[in-house]
Amino acid sequence: MTDQYTFDNPVTRYETISPDAELQQEQPGIEKRIDPRPDLGESTYRGSGRLTGRKALITGGDSGIGGAVAIAFAREGADVAISYLPVEEEDARHIVELVEAEGRTAVAIPGDVMDAAYCRDLVAKAVDGLGGLDILINNAGKQLAVESLEDISDEQFDQTYKTNVYAMFHITKAALPHLKAGSTIINTTSIQAYTPSPNLVDYASTKAAINTFSKALSQQLAPKGIRVNVVAPGPIWTPLQATGGQPPEALPTLGQDTPLGRVGQSAELAPAFVFLASSESSYVVGETLHVNGGMPTP
Ligand code: NAD
Ligand code: MG
Repeated sequence: MTDQYTFDNPVTRYETISPDAELQQEQPGIEKRIDPRPDLGESTYRGSGRLTGRKALITGGDSGIGGAVAIAFAREGADVAISYLPVEEEDARHIVELVEAEGRTAVAIPGDVMDAAYCRDLVAKAVDGLGGLDILINNAGKQLAVESLEDISDEQFDQTYKTNVYAMFHITKAALPHLKAGSTIINTTSIQAYTPSPNLVDYASTKAAINTFSKALSQQLAPKGIRVNVVAPGPIWTPLQATGGQPPEALPTLGQDTPLGRVGQSAELAPAFVFLASSESSYVVGETLHVNGGMPTP
């Protein structure tokens, strides 16, 4: 593959990987040490000015889907602020370097999105560092598979909701005063909102909440010219999955039950976010764009 426009077979565009059935690291995990190394489109994403001059904040922008989106946005001409946990500094540096290599501004703002005060501070620092804000991507997420409901600790339930749902509320609320007409908000949900797995009861229900939060907010903000949309990934090879998001025994065949027969790469998510962020999707509001290898959704 030369770039994302190369005409080829999506079944074989990326090889079918079979990671070892082992927990690779504790969460959140460092992408640099994930085996095999996930593809964020570092050597393939080609920009064409679709987000020229835009200013984007991407949570969880250090790795995985958020990292791929940060690279793509910079190559499309946007300045980018990323949030991530302090322990992920190494991955964040990789993304910052790639954004700056495009001649764009990169603002790195480490912190814990479970903390409402940090969420507000994050937006303030992003606005300050970028000189404004017109794209918000709520993408940070926590997913920890647990077989039985009795074994989901109160602490995990709290953390999953705070990371996936509360942070989206606090960050969006803080961002709204800065978003003028033409701005876009994109939230990352999941196939889990539609076909929830028995071992992801807490996580799957947060993803349903993200969907409905987004659809309601899209109705509220559309008259103001601010569009809210959602991207729903299927199984994507990221740190989230290799660090307990899936039980280790599921890793060797992850994504092989999709019609494309393979796991997706974060690089394959970026174009969906670029489309929804740019004005080319001007009449697309409250939509969920599925990027899941062909798994049917209602
Ligand atoms: P990832 O591990 O690369 O990204 C998740 C990021 O969330 C981390 O890098 C981290 O920076 C951030 N994060 C987690 N807890 C945080 C906290 N308390 N404070 C601040 N940041 C925190 O994995 P990913 O798969 O790219 O995940 C991105 C999004 O995609 C998540 O919302 C996830 O639910 C969603 N998603 C992933 C898949 C998949 O198969 N990988 C499928 C559907 C949806
Ligand atoms: Mg990370």
